[in-house]
Amino acid sequence: MTPFEYESPASRVVFGPGCMAQLAAETARLGRRTLVLCTPEQLALAEQARGLLAEAAVGLFDRAKMHVPKPTADEAVALARELRVDCTVAVGGGSTIGLAKAIALELGLPILALPTTYAGSEMTPVWGLTESGLKRTGRDARVQPRTVLYDPDLTLTLPPEMSVTSGINSMAHCIEGLYSQSANPLTSLMAEEGIRALAASLPRLARTPQDRDARGDALYGAWLGGAVLGAVGMALHHKLCHVLGGSFNLPHAQTHTIVIAHVVAYNAFAAGGALQRVAHALGDAERDPAQQLYELIAGTGVPLALKEIGMPESGLAEVVRQATANPHYNPAPLRADALHRLLHNAYHGHRPEPVLG
Ligand code: NAD
Repeated sequence: MTPFEYESPASRVVFGPGCMAQLAAETARLGRRTLVLCTPEQLALAEQARGLLAEAAVGLFDRAKMHVPKPTADEAVALARELRVDCTVAVGGGSTIGLAKAIALELGLPILALPTTYAGSEMTPVWGLTESGLKRTGRDARVQPRTVLYDPDLTLTLPPEMSVTSGINSMAHCIEGLYSQSANPLTSLMAEEGIRALAASLPRLARTPQDRDARGDALYGAWLGGAVLGAVGMALHHKLCHVLGGSFNLPHAQTHTIVIAHVVAYNAFAAGGALQRVAHALGDAERDPAQQLYELIAGTGVPLALKEIGMPESGLAEVVRQATANPHYNPAPLRADALHRLLHNAYHGHRPEPVLG
C-alpha cells in the first residue's frame, strides 16, 4: 500500500432537487446579515434567493465576472463592509463563488454556495484574483464554502454546450486526481465514481437538457470532482488550461473539454494504473481512455478544437514556454517538442495520440 495523507475539510453538503428551499435555515447557521452574489445573467435566481432569505438578505451584488477581476472584488468587499455583512451567499458557477472567496480572503466571511454549474469551486479552498491581465491563485482554508446546497433544479437552465463542457471540466478534476502526486484511496474512489456519473449523464444532457435525473447525476459527479480538486494536487492538464485561459482569455470549461483527452494520451505510458481506472469508469476497461474520452466529447457536438474557441495558432509556442517555465508535478516528463504536438492536435481538434513516443 502506498503511504498517503488525507485531510477532510469542514464543509456541510446538502444535496437534492428543491433543496434551495432550505436556504434561509442553512444560512442562519452562518450569519444574520447576508450579501447575495451573482453574475448579471443570473439576477433572477439571485432575487429568488434574496426572497427566501427575507430580512436576512441585506444586499445583492450582481456584477460577478469570470476570473474575479481585482476591481470587482474591491467593489464587493467595500459593499460588504458598508452593509456590515456577516456572511455571503453565492448563487452561480465558479465566477460567482470565486467572488465570494475574494471577499472571504479579505474579510473572513463564511460562504454558503448554491452552485449552478459543474465547475466544482464550491468544494475547494482555492481562490483566484486577476489583476493587470495576470491571474494569481492560492489556497486558504478561510475561502472554502462552509455550506453547499446542491440543487440540480438550478442547473436546468444551463445551456447544453455549457452543461457538457462544465461537466468535462469536473471530469478533468477526477482524472488528474487519480494520477495526482497526493492521490489517496478515498479521493481515488471519489474520482472514479465522479467520472462514471458524468460519463453516464453528459450525453443524456446534450440530447435532453431538461432530463432531471441526468441533471442530478451530473451534479453528483460535479460534487465528487470538486471534492477531489479541493483535496489533492493537479498536473499538466490544469497547468495548460490555466495558461490558455489566463494568457489567451479562452473560456474556462470549453478549454478544459478540448485539452483533457490529449493530456490523457500524453500521460498514458507514465500513469497506466490510474488511467486504467479512468478507462473502466468511462465504460470500457479494455479501451484506450483518451480515445473513449474524445469520442464521448465528440458525440455531444461541443467544440473539439482550440481554433474554434478563439486560440491564435501563433500563441501555441508561448503556451509551451509558460507550461515548462516552472517545474511542476506531472506523471510523464514535460518535453517541449511533445507538448507542441499535443497542442497542435488540440488546436486542430485531431484525435489524441501518444506524443511522447
Ligand atoms: P461561470 O461561473 O463563469 O458561468 C459561466 C456563465 O454561465 C455565466 O454567464 C453565468 O452567469 C452562466 N450560468 C451559470 N450557471 C447557469 C445556469 N444554471 N443557467 C444559465 N446560465 C448559467 O462558469 P464556471 O465554468 O462555473 O466557472 C469558471 C470560473 O471558475 C473560472 O474563473 C475558473 O477559474 C473558476 N474555477 C475555480 C475553481 C476553484 O477551485 N477555485 C474551480 C473551478 C473553476
